[in-house]
Formats: sequence, structure tokens, C-alpha cells
Amino acid sequence: MDDCIFCKIVSGQIPSQKVFEDDNVLAFRDINPAAPVHILVVPKQHISGLDEVDEANSAVLGPLFVAIAMIAQREEELKMGYRVVSNVGEYAGQSVGHLHFHILGGRHLDLKMG
Ligand code: AMP
Ligand code: ZN
Repeated sequence: MDDCIFCKIVSGQIPSQKVFEDDNVLAFRDINPAAPVHILVVPKQHISGLDEVDEANSAVLGPLFVAIAMIAQREEELKMGYRVVSNVGEYAGQSVGHLHFHILGGRHLDLKMG
């Protein structure tokens, strides 16, 4: 997608602080961290959000979660636990229309839900 900021990060047009990359997945540090560790994990394929996942493209999800588990094992500050979040749509405050999972950690996380 030409006007998608995360597609531009995937293609290298916009720089990012990469944490992990393989053929299917890119993970990079959030530019506006909400916790001491705040990493975004995105599929290289453009999918607008969890609401666009279907039987045809659901194979993207497995590698994303494998990457999340691998990153969590590598990051010292995530050893005490972390949270994985994906915002979908307006009410959840989704601001980038490219599927992504936030990994948040490095401190006690205040709100358990919502
Ligand atoms: P969401 O609001 O759930 O859609 O999450 C989008 C996230 O992308 C926000 O936490 C932003 O801080 C982050 N973000 C936006 N632009 C960039 C960028 N160029 N590099 C890294 N993170 C970004
Ligand atoms: Zn995109």
C-alpha cells in the first residue's frame, strides 16, 4: 500500500529501530513508547487490521506470534512479563491501518483490561 506508514517502514522508505526481521515479519520500536519496552510486530504483507483477517490470509498470524515469543525471550526487560495488544478500529484507537501487535513491558502495567 503506497500511503501506508508501516509498509514504508517494511520497505525501508521510512527508518525504524529494528528488533527482529525475517521473510514475513518486521518488529521495530514504537516511536512514542507507552512503556519502557514498546515494540511493534507487523506482517510484511499489508493487512489493514485484525478485522481484515480471513481464511485466505490467516497464515500471516502464526509467524507474528512466533516472532513475539522470540522477541520476548531475547529482551531482558520482558523477562518479568509483558502484554500483547492489537487495537482495531476507532473505539480501540487504532491509528495505523496496517495489522500490528504492540509488545508492552518493562514495568508493572496498570490496567489489566481497557
Ligand atoms: P495503534 O494506535 O494501535 O494503531 O498503534 C500505532 C503505533 O504506531 C503507535 O503506538 C505509534 O506511536 C506508532 N508509530 C507511528 N509511526 C511510527 C513510526 N514511524 N515508527 C515507529 N512507530 C510508529
Ligand atoms: Zn501497510
